[in-house]
Parts: sequence; C-alpha cells; structure tokens
Amino acid sequence: MTQPTSEELMRIDRAHVWHPYAAIGDATPVFPVVSAEGVRLTLADGRHLIDGMASWWCAIHGYSHPVLNAAAESQLAEMAHVMFGGLTHPPAVRLAERLVSITPQGLDLVFFADSGSVSVEVALKMAIQYWRDFGRPGKRRFVALRNGYHGDTLHAMSVCDPVTGMHSLFRDVLPQQLFVPAPRAGFAAPADPADVRRLEQVLSEHADQIAGLILEPIVQGAGGMRFYSPDYLRAARELCDRHQVLLIADEMATGFGRTGRLFACEHAAVTPDILCLGKALTGGYLSSAAVLTRRAVGEVISAGEPGLFMHGPTFMANPLACAVALASIDLLLSSHWSEAIAHIERGLQIGLASCAELPQVAEVRVLGAIGVVELVAPVDVRSVQPRFVAEGVWVRPFGRLVYLMPPFVIEDSDLAALTSAVTKVVACLIVVDGQCRPST
Ligand SMILES: *Cc1c(COP(=O)(O)O)cnc(C)c1O
Repeated sequence: MTQPTSEELMRIDRAHVWHPYAAIGDATPVFPVVSAEGVRLTLADGRHLIDGMASWWCAIHGYSHPVLNAAAESQLAEMAHVMFGGLTHPPAVRLAERLVSITPQGLDLVFFADSGSVSVEVALKMAIQYWRDFGRPGKRRFVALRNGYHGDTLHAMSVCDPVTGMHSLFRDVLPQQLFVPAPRAGFAAPADPADVRRLEQVLSEHADQIAGLILEPIVQGAGGMRFYSPDYLRAARELCDRHQVLLIADEMATGFGRTGRLFACEHAAVTPDILCLGKALTGGYLSSAAVLTRRAVGEVISAGEPGLFMHGPTFMANPLACAVALASIDLLLSSHWSEAIAHIERGLQIGLASCAELPQVAEVRVLGAIGVVELVAPVDVRSVQPRFVAEGVWVRPFGRLVYLMPPFVIEDSDLAALTSAVTKVVACLIVVDGQCRPST
C-alpha cells in the first residue's frame, strides 16, 4: 500500500480530523509527526524537534524506549487484551501490588480505568457510593479548588475551574459544586491562613452535602500551572478528617516524579482517601489510569446496597498497558530519578531566569521538572507555535503560559536548547490587541 504524501495527509486531516480544543477549519497549524525517539520528534519533512512537553506529562522516559518497547512486545506475544470481568492476569495483579507499595501508606485497593478523566469519574462515584452506603446519602457534592483541572468528561468538568473549564457553556447540565480560592501561597511559603479559613468555612457549612474535596496536590496543571504550599495540603487533610469529607488527590500530572517526589502528596506527607493516577503511569505508551483507595472505603461500599462498585470500563486493566506500566515504574525506580529531576530543575531555573526581566512576562516559576513562563496576556498560538518549530523545539503554549515539562532522560544540551528557544521566542513577543504575538 502506498503511503499518502504529507500534503495528502494534511489535506485529509483538515477535512476529517478533529484536534483537541480546536475548531473545524481552524487555521492553527498542525505538524505531521512520523516517529519519535528519545527526546526527539521527527516531522514528515525530516526535521527533528526536541520535545519540551513529554506529550502532556506522559513520556517521562522519552519515546521508543527499548525497555518499554520490549515490555510491550513480550506482552503482545501473550495477549493484547482480555476482559477483566471474571478474569484476571499477571500484569494487572503485579501492577496493583506495585502501585500499593509505592503510593502513600494506607492505599490498599486499586481500581483500573482507561483514561484520566474516567478515573476521576470513578473517584467521584466511589465517594458518592461510600457516603450513601455509610448512611449519609446527602453527602454527594464536591468541593474543588479554583484553577483546578480534572478532565473533560461531564462530572470531571464540574470540578474543574468554572472559568477556564468553560462552565458557562454547560451551565444547565453540570452538577453544581462548591469552589474555594486557589491557594495563594507558593511552594516555599507557609499556607495563607485566609485560604485555609475559607476551606474550613465551606467544609463546615456544607459538611452534610459534601462527599469529597478533590484537588491536584501541590501543582495545579492545565488550570494555570500554579504551585502551592504543602502546608495547605496538610491543612486540607486535617479539615477533611474533621468534617468527614473524603480527600481525593488527582495526581494524573504530578505522579511518578514530576514534582521532585514520586507523588506530590509526599511533599506534605499526607495520604489521600482516594488517589487518581494516569498519564505517566504507562510512560506515555498507552491510555490507562488507576484509582487507589483505602480498604475501609472498599469495605463500606461492598457492605452496602447493592454491595458492588458500579463501574467497569471495557478496557479496564488492559494487559498491554499494565505490562508497560510495570516496566515504566521499574525503569523509573531503578534510575537516579530524584537526582535527574533536581538537575532538570536547576537547568530550568538557570535557563528561564532571564525571561523574568521581560515586560511581557508576569512570572517565571520552576518546580521539579516543570518550568513555567507566565505572560501578561494570552499567547496567539497560531503565530507563536511555528516560531518554536522553527527553533527546533516542540513547545505548546496555552493561555498565558509557555511551559516546559521535558522527559526525565533529557540531556543538558537539549534542555539548554529548550530553555534558550523559550527565552528567544518569548523575548520577541509583544502584546497586540490583548494577545502576545511575535513582533517581527
Ligand atoms: C490530564 C489530566 C486529567 C485527565 O486525564 P485524561 O487522560 O486526559 O482524561 C485529569 N486530571 C489531571 C490533573 C490531568 O492532568
């Protein structure tokens, strides 16, 4: 079969393919990528781009890693998939055991889901079912932080930031949740007492209605790339206990080392009642997620009516995904990941520092392997994206944010190339009609 040329490919893409958060007929460019290896994406025209995004937090070991490829191939020879109802298999069992052993103490049960958003749905359903079976059926709403992001399915959307999550579009169909301000104190600061008081106020006023508090521990990702004080997370844990509210930690983005700890909850030494993992779980190979909870939560649900947890995705515990996830976790834990991330953190701090001087930049912040340049106005992606590609890097800004979260295996010279490309492109931006655009 002859392959379509890249012009044909692009024509068909424009005619039939819907991209994320995009319009049909959108003039924003998309770039055809034909392969990826290490930290480099290869475009159809032969250009190589250094990857600054790890495919949205996922590809922590880079692309086409021989160990992960081998894990996928050897599992493929056994079976690619089998239903999980009434059956079980070694990759799922071993992965569950591994996740229980590496996540915060006290999370003993693992429910596999097929994507991050679905795992958030599972977590919310678990919390609702728990309180119903506990004899408190009125507890079925959720508290969430402003600037949070928890996925794109409907109930997950309802706990996303109401503004960036475009609640106005879906006002009539979304369940109405309770929101508290995003914690103001940064990572290195003590919690702002006013933020803790506000959380306490909402939890105590509505305790009879609240099933859970859902948050992204320490790093709020797609809702603004904000880092906050571990103190706040500790306070949230205490307040949840005091007001009988389950703490749901969405570590889809932060899990597996990205913030410098294996899980961001460790910064505050808290164990959530429910933990969602996804994204880097499979090293970016396959869509898979996991929801962990305390045995007590599972026991209450199992002793209730109907005594079952009512969820079961078709591709639950997909063997290929589980096998690659196990290999990815082993690869991470057998590497000097903590030193590697501390090294990337320093590289990002040094490489992005000069951006802070620019008038179009509001703030530069770095935590672990995450570097953020927040601008004073939203980026015009249509004109800015090609600039990054011309610099030989893959950096995808959104809103007012230009950010880097490279694979952990990135070498110094490639990291320096990424930060200097960001510095160069950001330096040429000027604000025109409320948007950051290249000045030349
Ligand atoms: C990406 C993300 C999700 C959604 O995961 P999908 O796999 O895209 O459905 C949920 N929560 C957080 C914090 C995320 O970063």
